[in-house]
Amino acid sequence: MSTTFHAGGSLGYARTGNATWSAFEEAVAALEGARHCLSFSSGMAAVTAALSLAPVGGVVVVPHVVYNGVRSITAEWAALGRAVVREVPTGDIAALEEAAQGAHVIWVETPANPTLTMTDLVAVAEIARKNGAISVCDSTLASPVGQHPLAHGIDVVMHSATKYIAGHSDVLLGTLATDDDRLAELLLAQRTIGGGIAGPFEAWLALRGLRTLPLRWERATRTAAILAERLVALPSIERVRALSLPEDPGHGLALAQLPTFSAVIAIEVAGGADAAQAVCDAVRLWTPATSLGGVESLIERRRRWGTESPGVPENLLRLSVGIEDPEDLWEDLSAAITSATTG
Ligand SMILES: *Cc1c(COP(=O)(O)O)cnc(C)c1O
Repeated sequence: MSTTFHAGGSLGYARTGNATWSAFEEAVAALEGARHCLSFSSGMAAVTAALSLAPVGGVVVVPHVVYNGVRSITAEWAALGRAVVREVPTGDIAALEEAAQGAHVIWVETPANPTLTMTDLVAVAEIARKNGAISVCDSTLASPVGQHPLAHGIDVVMHSATKYIAGHSDVLLGTLATDDDRLAELLLAQRTIGGGIAGPFEAWLALRGLRTLPLRWERATRTAAILAERLVALPSIERVRALSLPEDPGHGLALAQLPTFSAVIAIEVAGGADAAQAVCDAVRLWTPATSLGGVESLIERRRRWGTESPGVPENLLRLSVGIEDPEDLWEDLSAAITSATTG
């Protein structure tokens, strides 16, 4: 918890390095199978550092459905002339191939938040390499247990460690991991000068959270699959998006890339935005709140945010499944759906 260290040692001023970050970064690097990992003050600080790998006026390719913070910052950069931003459905490889011409950074998010659209990382890595672009994967929804983007050839993997890594909805933190020495050096310089550093206490909390990550992930993904299967049978639910369902468009790719599937699922409620909101108002065990990846289950109508991708339906509810008893979660959710849609 010091801002400065005795001269002549391995640590100097605390913006450049801290022993607690290093322990946390080593653990995340090991999980991702990466040579380097850097922690940042939030997921968005990590996003900003990674996007900054594009030169001023450079071309950045982003998915058309993507975490809304990434949408906001790339829109701002485009307005400022900081970057040329090309939005594409990154799940559509032909469209991506076209958009990648002359690109500097290709950003993908898989599974995408909140539609769970899967993107083929091997194909993205290949397209990036062919075009001399840096590929970055936001792997937050998969956690470092579920998916390993570097193993598929991606250059940089990003996490909002606020979510599954820390896991208790009590710390904001981000990470970037890479095998590339030159990229790691550029990102470290960006963090040191930009100052988006993690606090030592936050890194310590995240390190503690990591110790239970595999257990939390196993429980939450298993419960999510159980809930998805039951939700499909409800007539008032128009669509269930869950990678565990064989009919989900992302299921096949998930088997190869994210075999545990995800602990986030989404439902589209008959009756539109009002009916969907009524479900959030009726739950008692689930918490109506933003964010995901914590031990407690959260439910949110994403389009309540004006910054959400227009590709996300108005009646879509994102469910972040936690580690509570699956039967308690089902009882509460199904009762809330019934009361909201049969009013
Ligand atoms: C939450 C989130 C972020 C941003 O992370 P913060 O820690 O909130 O700054 C980025 N990407 C995804 C997919 C997220 O869910």
